[in-house]
Amino acid sequence: MTFHARDEFPVPDDTTRVARHVYRKGNKYMTIRDNLGLWYRDSRYAELFTSMRGRLALSPALLNMVLIIQFIEGLTDRQVAEEVRGRIDLKYLLGMRLEDPGFEYTILSEHRARLLADDLVAQLFVDMLDHFKTHGLLTAHGKQRTDSTHVLAAVRSLNRLERVGETMRAVLNVLTELAPQWLLKQIEPDWGDRYGPRFEQYRLPKKEREREQLAVEIGADGYHLLSAIFSDTAPGYLRTVELVETMRRLWIQQYYLEEDKVHWRTDKDSPPPGERIQSPYDQDARNRTKRDVNWTGYTVHLTETCDDEGPNLIVDVQTTDASVVDSEMTPVIHQSLADKDLSPSEHYLDTGYIEAEHIVTARNEYGIDLVGPVMPDTSRQARQGLGFDQSCFFIDWEAKQARCPEGQLSERWQERKNKAGKDVVHIGFPPLQCHICGRRPDCTNAEVGGRSLVILAQPEYSILQERRQRQKTEEFKERYHRRAGVEGTISQGTRSLELRNARYIGLAKTHFQHVLTVLGMDVARVAVYLEGELKAKTRQSRFQLLVSAA
Ligand code: SF4
Repeated sequence: MTFHARDEFPVPDDTTRVARHVYRKGNKYMTIRDNLGLWYRDSRYAELFTSMRGRLALSPALLNMVLIIQFIEGLTDRQVAEEVRGRIDLKYLLGMRLEDPGFEYTILSEHRARLLADDLVAQLFVDMLDHFKTHGLLTAHGKQRTDSTHVLAAVRSLNRLERVGETMRAVLNVLTELAPQWLLKQIEPDWGDRYGPRFEQYRLPKKEREREQLAVEIGADGYHLLSAIFSDTAPGYLRTVELVETMRRLWIQQYYLEEDKVHWRTDKDSPPPGERIQSPYDQDARNRTKRDVNWTGYTVHLTETCDDEGPNLIVDVQTTDASVVDSEMTPVIHQSLADKDLSPSEHYLDTGYIEAEHIVTARNEYGIDLVGPVMPDTSRQARQGLGFDQSCFFIDWEAKQARCPEGQLSERWQERKNKAGKDVVHIGFPPLQCHICGRRPDCTNAEVGGRSLVILAQPEYSILQERRQRQKTEEFKERYHRRAGVEGTISQGTRSLELRNARYIGLAKTHFQHVLTVLGMDVARVAVYLEGELKAKTRQSRFQLLVSAA
């Protein structure tokens, strides 16, 4: 069929008449259509339109909307295609005629693949936010809050032994498809039994020595196969197979060769957890333990508005592999918000996101006031509440000297970078004076030498001290309450929209899932807002209410 890009899809009269008759009491999709019109424009997705010309039953703009509806309703591709075909409210939303047969459901996966391939996922999100802005539902310079949660990869967690065995098995299966005759010449007689079935825990040896022996044998098999693949006689295209590259990297992570003998690495000489491949079937997933949760997969960070007026809309979504800690994401989120012209004036975050340099950078570069508790001083004196912690020392930044509570001036001031690359100052007090000081037990445990301090460079140190004092006040605690609501958003996403379970393989597709989830949540929230429902307060149990009233 010939299809022409359109930016307008007016609701046909017969659809309007029947929809209004059926939904006398209102319907969220009709409310949204009446107030927001179409969410997307075909002209913004010209590349898609060009690449899929002749195959479309619906425009890219309408397919974008269908993808979001799918997440709002929790439907499969086949189900949402049937719903669009049969539901009057969806036809009203999409501006379709009542007798329109809709579209073949397989077009949705093609559309998702095209959005990913053409790098249009971010645009999908930004265009919707711009649409909300145009309709006065969203403004910059308000209040926003952020939190994160873990996301389980769509693959089974594998221990180290299962991982190498399953990787061998996966590579052999791929090679069987690509070059079966060549492969038959490379394999050993026992490989059929060893790598035929899945590497499940129950069929592996229980004793540690036997497990290690098996790991070494798999390692030797892997080296044998890799050297065959990278030999001059192997077909060149085998070396470009993604899974072969994954296996090569995994073998470096798990084994080393010493005088042609294969060794199984110990945890000590393995790469950092953030770099370790966890599964041959999802090479982006990483493992991490945070407090009492251990998971393999990803982390998603949601940022939402939290002003007193208007709906709370999610304005930023970031997906990372699980190894990335929250504090690494603070500058990324701020840059992303600035790119969308949606920087807040106040940003509420928990301790994991806030480092002293973030407070300074957010204020100086983006005009954002970070509101949240900073890490407490972890020195012995601060932890025990006894003696002189950093805050007891007066720092004279101009003179590059510190004065201790006993009035002694420091004799050493060295500006360096610490292991994390941050600017710090090493300060030392004169050993002789410290030795005869009557307050020495309150100051240092060192048996020799004077008190030493390692502090952050000036702007970060000053802001850290100020924040540590401020966060003890009732005023701060009252203000910080505003952050709590984002936990409800995470809860809504996980309970209703499976935010914590990746549907797809890989970081890019998992992020796409999160963008669609978030857009679904935003649209649902706008519908509730437009229908005049008040924001729900964070629920408290009867017991909590009793205690707070007492
Ligand atoms: S031990 Fe040294 S630094 Fe500490 S209070 Fe005494 S003189 Fe000052």
